[in-house]
Amino acid sequence: MADSYYDEIEIEDMVFDTKLQLYHFPCPCGDRFEISLGDLRDGEDVAVCPTCSLMIKVIFEASDLPQEQPVKTEKETPRQIVAVVGM
Ligand SMILES: [Zn+2]
Repeated sequence: MADSYYDEIEIEDMVFDTKLQLYHFPCPCGDRFEISLGDLRDGEDVAVCPTCSLMIKVIFEASDLPQEQPVKTEKETPRQIVAVVGM
């Protein structure tokens, strides 16, 4: 099964970048393997180092992934409090 993976890494051993929404793991070349959260959700489990193109297989369960955060749009109109004038 393990084709040409450099290694198999448990997702707990990877670092999650909340800003970029991706997991990374140090690569022996000095760069790092990266896989985005979206890819993991799509069932993708191969993280690639963009520098040396080594690959690792990420071992994870769907339940290991952080909950999807609803994207708040700034356009959302603030709820207006309408004062009812009842006089
Ligand atoms: Zn590398």
